[in-house]
Amino acid sequence: MAAAISEVENQVQNQLKSVGVVGGGQLAWMMADGAKALGLELLVQTPNADDPACAIAHRTFIGGVADAVVTAKMAQYCDVITFENEFIDLPALRQLTDSDRLFYPQLDCLAPLLDKYDQRQYCDSIGLPSPRFATLQSKADLPFIEALVGDIGLPLVLKTRRHGYDGQGTFILHNLAQITQTWQKLGYQPVLLEAFVEFEKELAVMVARSFSGEVAVYPVVETQQVDQVCRRVIAPAQVPPSVVDQVEAIATQLVNRLGVVGILGIELFVTKSQQVLINEIAPRTHNSGHYTLDACNTSQFEQQLRAVSGLSLGSTDWKVAGTGAVMVNLLGTETRVSDYAEKRAALAQIPNAFVYWYGKRQARLGRKMGHVTVLTDAIQESTAVEAIIQTVEQRWY
Ligand code: ADP
Repeated sequence: MAAAISEVENQVQNQLKSVGVVGGGQLAWMMADGAKALGLELLVQTPNADDPACAIAHRTFIGGVADAVVTAKMAQYCDVITFENEFIDLPALRQLTDSDRLFYPQLDCLAPLLDKYDQRQYCDSIGLPSPRFATLQSKADLPFIEALVGDIGLPLVLKTRRHGYDGQGTFILHNLAQITQTWQKLGYQPVLLEAFVEFEKELAVMVARSFSGEVAVYPVVETQQVDQVCRRVIAPAQVPPSVVDQVEAIATQLVNRLGVVGILGIELFVTKSQQVLINEIAPRTHNSGHYTLDACNTSQFEQQLRAVSGLSLGSTDWKVAGTGAVMVNLLGTETRVSDYAEKRAALAQIPNAFVYWYGKRQARLGRKMGHVTVLTDAIQESTAVEAIIQTVEQRWY
């Protein structure tokens, strides 16, 4: 449910009726309830007419997310444009009329976040902690690899700088030969090299900032990856208060320094010595925030819409104080087309479970097909969390 809307906000809303979304996957699809609660129409730009968000969009504009011509067309029909995907063509968007009042997050805020190396440099420049890093720009940098590896240490992580997702484009490498071979296979495109972090846990947090500069930080969660793909989220993360403090300080400093209007997802590592490092910043809603749909007063999706449409932010508190949630991604387990009806029915039988099915036409091995969130009042007990994970995964995987 939307938080109560004040009179002033009502006036804003009377002017702002529709939000365009670049990207039409599950993140845009999950904006539907928030949009309805706020009385907003959603317009969606997406490559295929059967992408998930087409089912809920007031109007669909078919085109790739980097196709600024299609974005310009959508702009004629909406008041503001936001993003569910960062694989955009920033220079082309900057050419659009009124681009400085059309896009939230603002394009200037997106600029340092679209490329993994730029992100690392930006974090460094504002004093936010991340792993040691360097870049290889082009084949001309081949002679410098050895020295860079000397600085960073082994093993190290090589990442393509743009368009990586679900661990695609992320390689953990153990020696010089592996590094040069991997880079060669990638056609010597610009890559990020960074120190491999022996993390104790991976964490994530969602943070929103409004037009008026109000900042709302969601609970810090633990994410668990399998083969570099997010498999589970445990909310809240079972970490000491000092770790929560570090994460909240990072999130708040980041959005304030950017002056961003919108929502960001931040992935982090916590080391054995309880030091927090940023892994990645996503300038949009994020898989690690799906639990907010069922567990928090304001979902991450409604929060994004509230921020970009000029409303005050909603409460990020738990719907029921002291409870928690476990979210498990339902990744494609078969290559043939399947709606997994039986498995979904079995998951729905789990007490306090909320099953989301994105309606993707094509099932692919490992593709995010849906997710399930199970609410729990015993999140502090790891055995309770383990039991939920086991129950869900036995019925799915
Ligand atoms: P993507 O952008 O494709 O999600 P990430 O950079 O988030 O890729 O990496 C995916 C996963 O790989 C992370 O969740 C983490 O488990 C692992 N990983 C990435 N970078 C490092 C690192 N520097 N040290 C250790 N593990 C890492």
